[in-house]
Amino acid sequence: MARLELKSLTKSFGDTRVIKGVDLTIEDREFCVFLGPSGCGKSTLLRLIAGLEQATSGQILLDGQDITGLPSAKRNLAMVFQSYALYPHMTVRQNMSFSLELAKADRKIIDEKVGRAARILELEPLLDRKPAALSGGQRQRVAIGRAIVREPRIFLFDEPLSNLDASLRVQMRLEIARLHKELNATMIYVTHDQVEAMTLADKVVIFNAGNIEQAGSPQELYRRPANRFVAGFLGMPQ
Ligand code: ADP
Ligand code: MG
Repeated sequence: MARLELKSLTKSFGDTRVIKGVDLTIEDREFCVFLGPSGCGKSTLLRLIAGLEQATSGQILLDGQDITGLPSAKRNLAMVFQSYALYPHMTVRQNMSFSLELAKADRKIIDEKVGRAARILELEPLLDRKPAALSGGQRQRVAIGRAIVREPRIFLFDEPLSNLDASLRVQMRLEIARLHKELNATMIYVTHDQVEAMTLADKVVIFNAGNIEQAGSPQELYRRPANRFVAGFLGMPQ
């Protein structure tokens, strides 16, 4: 069974239709990248999946269950933003523990999960620091750590590396690829960076003006771009 299915999904803000009828299937453990120009609706689609926006019409199925009307907190998905959104007054450990404490998880289980995430992300020496005392890359790792401890059914990333400088971006990209393997996780990753998309993705979904232009593996897209937009966006001669 597919992990996630979008059926004829639309979203309008007032009279403006931003998502125009999206059909998409994402498999368990797939790394799916939404790629497209700024303003085409990538973040809106991710927010619909996360439950941070309500769909205007259509359906969202998670593990076969209709979650279209379900509030964000009940979807068990975790979103990582480019702005990190860490709590400044809390330490790294507290930032990572917080959602589990809210859910009233056992102290021992919280400590185990935070310890494991810190180990995977090499954050152990930084657990007692506050965000202000961390570098950009370290902050982004904490934001990812907060997602990992929740063991979400899908990780949702919205341009998570766009605030980092170029060399750090390459390093974090490798780290996210490693995490995907190590956690056996399903990930959806939004970017407007073609190289990032092509190196990370099992499946790339090329978006334009609220529609999917093409979805397929990087090889399929390079071999058989569906139209001029796809070819142009991938930087191919037309
Ligand atoms: P992307 O992430 O691909 O850059 P977005 O999903 O952020 O694109 O935005 C798609 C379009 O929807 C843009 O034209 C944007 O201005 C519009 N939009 C996004 N959120 C809102 C909102 N809350 N209210 C009105 N318009 C919005
Ligand atoms: Mg966006």
